[in-house]
Amino acid sequence: MDRQRLVVFSGAGISAESGLRTFRDSDGLWEEHRIEDVATPEAWHRDPTSVLRFYDQRRAQVIAAMPNAAHIAIAQLQGKFEVVVVTQNIDDLHERAGSEHVLHLHGEILKARSTKDPGLVVQLEKPTIEIGDRCALGSQLRPHIVWFGEAVPMMDPAIDLIARADHLLVVGTSLNVYPAAGLIQYAPRYCSITLVDPADVTLTRAGMTHIKAKASEGVPSLASEWMRKGSITA
Ligand code: NAD
Repeated sequence: MDRQRLVVFSGAGISAESGLRTFRDSDGLWEEHRIEDVATPEAWHRDPTSVLRFYDQRRAQVIAAMPNAAHIAIAQLQGKFEVVVVTQNIDDLHERAGSEHVLHLHGEILKARSTKDPGLVVQLEKPTIEIGDRCALGSQLRPHIVWFGEAVPMMDPAIDLIARADHLLVVGTSLNVYPAAGLIQYAPRYCSITLVDPADVTLTRAGMTHIKAKASEGVPSLASEWMRKGSITA
């Protein structure tokens, strides 16, 4: 029998208990910064040094953080199910927990990209990006992050994955950040959808089951139930 296909759709909340703060939970500020000052193309054009420093700090936090019980439980599900992770996060905690198939919708903090060719992405060899650090084409490197107001190039591959899911596990996202939040609508009719988030998230699709719990509690408990049964149930 084919293995059941589980797509995990994660947001900033899954990494909160690893010490990486979400920003919608803190007055719309991301680590005390306004989004418009650090996470938009306008901010980059106005003050690239401040943008680089902001992401250097985020990178240092990610490097120091460890995967939590939710990241680990998701990786363990690979033992019985076909699991793909579609994450809005820019950290690498899913990968470090052992998840083998991870698609990053909003980029990856440990990578940089060319300001001339968005397809030219490099793994960073050092913890910071400086003004004057150049890509192979000679242009300034920028963080490999999708800023607010920019297109999300990984949307189509993410839609393909979600459109083929038997089950969707949504963890730690307010379902407020578009276009990513709209992805849930692409799940097929027969796909069960479970959300783990401690907040009163507005459910964007009928039939979703909401488990109001922190990721480190809700996800391992679901995962152990599914592993024991050998089957995913809503
Ligand atoms: P968001 O609004 O989608 O996520 C915040 C959600 O996490 C909220 O619904 C909140 O209730 C939930 N949450 C908080 N603590 C939780 C816990 N312990 N367990 C489960 N859920 C919990 O996302 P955002 O914070 O507005 O961030 C928006 C974007 O900024 C992200 O999509 C990402 O691109 C970027 N970001 C990334 C990281 C990261 O990579 N770790 C962190 C912050 C922001």
